Amino acid sequence: MKLENPTAIQWNFSQRAQKLQSSAIREILKVTMRPDIISFAGGLPSPATFPIAEMQAAFDKVLSQQGKIALQYGPTDGYGPLREWVANRLSTADAKIDANQVIMVSGSQQGLDLLAKVLIDEGSKVMVETPSYLGALQAFSMYEPEYVSIPGDEGGLIPEQVAELGQGARLLYALPNFQNPTGRTLSLERREALVEICARMGIPLIEDDPYGALSYRAEPLPKMLNMNPNGVIYMGSFSKVLTPGIRLGYVVAPRPLIEKMEQAKQATDLHTAQLTQMVVYETVKDGFLDKHIPTIRKLYSDQCDAMLAALQAYFPSQATWTKPEGGMFIWVTLPKHIDSAKLLAQAIEHHVAFVPGGPFYANTPETNTLRLSFVTVPPAKIREGVEILGKLIATML
Ligand code: PMP
Repeated sequence: MKLENPTAIQWNFSQRAQKLQSSAIREILKVTMRPDIISFAGGLPSPATFPIAEMQAAFDKVLSQQGKIALQYGPTDGYGPLREWVANRLSTADAKIDANQVIMVSGSQQGLDLLAKVLIDEGSKVMVETPSYLGALQAFSMYEPEYVSIPGDEGGLIPEQVAELGQGARLLYALPNFQNPTGRTLSLERREALVEICARMGIPLIEDDPYGALSYRAEPLPKMLNMNPNGVIYMGSFSKVLTPGIRLGYVVAPRPLIEKMEQAKQATDLHTAQLTQMVVYETVKDGFLDKHIPTIRKLYSDQCDAMLAALQAYFPSQATWTKPEGGMFIWVTLPKHIDSAKLLAQAIEHHVAFVPGGPFYANTPETNTLRLSFVTVPPAKIREGVEILGKLIATML
């Protein structure tokens, strides 16, 4: 029997839930999904790079040969052979990574949430870059830290500022390669300094690196993980090198932290889907990524060049922007008085979208900034969209 006219529930959300807000980007994405919009807003990888045939073959093989394992519950720390593969791929001659230092997670976004769960108390000092990845700020904010914003410049965040501002912090969250949102890269000297300073202060250094493989130059800079595996927590993801839809990432950390994260993950989702882990292992185990990643780099690098050329041609000289050496994003700084959220409202009327910079700041937002993604838009459309934005900015000078 279905109850007639039940009283509507007055939802009594937890104090934590009352503070939640939807990500500014996810809201904008709803608008930018419209086919008539040239969208530089998404953080989405280009679907042209998804290896559909290879993954279909891997699904078929895993299901036909190991279906009973793939469709069963699995261990919380992940599928053993894939953990082994991750550990080998991240090991260097003088810094071996062991598979038991790896936990597989349901997208590195879950890794951020688990790290926050086990490391942050209300009021804990948490160091983040200025600006930083919005999804990390969302994950951390759930546990109500006190943010310490670490300033940066063209060479990424400034290590000396960590020494000055970070006393007593629970962690430092850093994005060394082609940072989201700025596209900046942390120089080798600064990586070494940062690792050294954090080790001296006894502060865990989170190295979030979903874009590291997408370097447009031959050799990416060394990982901070390999400079100090005892003090650096490394986060990787298959989202930007295979597909984000499989929701698969990994965290590499010293054993005591892995054990705590495992306990937290049991409460969250028991484990990451065994089927997708086995399919990804089947896809990557014989070197597929070494052939596949260069095709992604080429596509993104060409589109990055197209956007840089368009910015040079169409943006007023009062604007400045970063020149990424990899990844997916360019960060634009406009004259101080221009509010990029207002610019966005006008841009959408002209069928162009981007993400305003304000939400990427943990503390004081710089509202004259914006993030442009060049990976899902072909060069001719990049030029068209940037020209429209350039004209709108010129009217606001
Ligand atoms: N970290 C950064 C810096 C990102 O840009 C993203 C995705 N946009 C993530 C983590 C989350 O990635 P995943 O798809 O692995 O959850």
